[in-house]
Amino acid sequence: MRSGRLQCSFQAAQEKCRVRSLCSARHSGMFILGAENGDLQVWQRDDAAAAARLSRRAQGLAAPPSGASSMGTGAPRCNLGHLCTWSARADGEYVRGWRCNLCHAKRKGERWLCTVCKDDLCFDCFPIHRPGERKTAERDAQVVNGKWVQVRKHSGMGCAVVEFTDPQHRDSLLAQFVREPLVLGGIYIDVKVHMEKQADGTRAEIPGCAFAGWKQPKEEGTCKLRARTLQVYLDRLCSKNAPEPVIALD
Ligand SMILES: [Zn+2]
Ligand SMILES: [Zn+2]
Repeated sequence: MRSGRLQCSFQAAQEKCRVRSLCSARHSGMFILGAENGDLQVWQRDDAAAAARLSRRAQGLAAPPSGASSMGTGAPRCNLGHLCTWSARADGEYVRGWRCNLCHAKRKGERWLCTVCKDDLCFDCFPIHRPGERKTAERDAQVVNGKWVQVRKHSGMGCAVVEFTDPQHRDSLLAQFVREPLVLGGIYIDVKVHMEKQADGTRAEIPGCAFAGWKQPKEEGTCKLRARTLQVYLDRLCSKNAPEPVIALD
């Protein structure tokens, strides 16, 4: 602290100078930080998780597997209802990465993991809210266009209008959800035909449109359903119902 000023933002300091060395004085929660410009700074941590994150960032290391809950909130539930936890497991069966159960993206590194079912869910499908990070909800698109569906989500409530390219997809999915309800990340989604109020006050069914409704907890840190996640999953189901035309090679 050459300047002698007391600062409480580590990140601000990082933006201004490149960190050359970082060492922690054990038990005291104090960090001594050497910058490229010759500055020497002394930092005291005010919470263990933040300090761990900061020191990792400074040292350029991958996130350690310990302290899952402190890594962030917003964890979804697996198909069987177990609450997933943050994981960066990359050993054994995960050496070559993992595949998101919902969007099928093949990835490596951090994700939500149900350790019982070995279900992996990516942070695109269920964003992680890291401590000290601004809410991501505001950045989320409310209208998402997929191959087979367009999802128009209400900005503040857990409901969306889903428009299907092929009206038959809607009908077969509605029938499917009666047999096996749609649950994504532990959130039960009620899907029915979309009715719209007409000029004469009556309500009429809109062909090829469905209305999806779910309980979206307001509390910060709880798992929420994004328009994109719903779109990706419904698109996948539609693709399954309408396989790509196979071009015969012979
Ligand atoms: Zn995913
Ligand atoms: Zn599970």
